[in-house]
Amino acid sequence: REAEAWEARFAEAHTRDGHRVEVAANLGNAAHALDAVERGAEGIGLLRTEFIFMAHASAPDLETQIAEYREAIDALDGRPLVARTLDVGGDKPLPYWPVPKEDNPFLGLRGIRLALTRPEVLETQLRALLMASRSRPLRIMLPMVKDVGEFRAVRTLFDRLLDEIPEAERATDVQLGVMIEVPSAALLAPSLAAEVDFFSVGTNDLTQYALAIDRGHPDLSAQSDGLHPAVLRLIEMTVAAAHAQGKWVGVCGELASDATAVPVLVGLGVDELSVSARQVPLVKARLAEFDLAEARAQATLALAQPTAEAVRDALEVR
Ligand code: PEP
Ligand code: MG
Repeated sequence: REAEAWEARFAEAHTRDGHRVEVAANLGNAAHALDAVERGAEGIGLLRTEFIFMAHASAPDLETQIAEYREAIDALDGRPLVARTLDVGGDKPLPYWPVPKEDNPFLGLRGIRLALTRPEVLETQLRALLMASRSRPLRIMLPMVKDVGEFRAVRTLFDRLLDEIPEAERATDVQLGVMIEVPSAALLAPSLAAEVDFFSVGTNDLTQYALAIDRGHPDLSAQSDGLHPAVLRLIEMTVAAAHAQGKWVGVCGELASDATAVPVLVGLGVDELSVSARQVPLVKARLAEFDLAEARAQATLALAQPTAEAVRDALEVR
């Protein structure tokens, strides 16, 4: 099966009956973009730009960032890039950006909260992304957004940059979206969907915060399952809100490459799955195994279960 999946890796991803779902790759390093394309990725669905910042002894300047992003954009050759703005704090400290010691770093100054304390760093990053992209499709997303307030703060900055940078020197096909990885953002998805261009569900953090289980906890990892019906309901709300406003929804957490979860996510209406480059051919092959109607039935069945174990029992016997 793996050999077959590899052979078919460049085909457009869709379900057996032709329902289109994009399969993109998650990347921490722009230099790996070409490899992702060679594995069949239809774009980059999550560029974790913090790894670019971590690889430098101080915050990379505008030119350094432009060069990094351009490497990924050139490799993509017109396929879309979804770049996440700097997501540090929590489990990912930056040596040159010390955060006061916190009792609960996962509940502290991280993601967009931290970025908004240094708007000049965020501004340089947004400027670099815009200037690196030119005619190529660029999607920028913000991590750890809890409500529309944080999004508006960035949107103001972003709109000013769009005004400032001449159109010939920057991306014109550009969208600004948010990650859905804090339960409040899923619960408030209708108000966010009215203003953002897209959502990408980060199931790793969404599961952590919905179930109150540290995502790296050695003894609790078995219980930390993104197929938990509580997480699925948050995803259902997110998709419903987005689609009501004509916006698209991706999933870029680990759940997107779980063979059992793929039909459930498609059944919930997810439009894009972003997975590690290695998994791209397998996820494309998995999509081709079921019809949209089957996926919807699986999603309905999963949502009706009381626990993650019950979801897996109900789906995996089929
Ligand atoms: C997530 O939280 O699901 C996600 C994709 O982001 P990260 O794993 O980088 O926190
Ligand atoms: Mg996350």
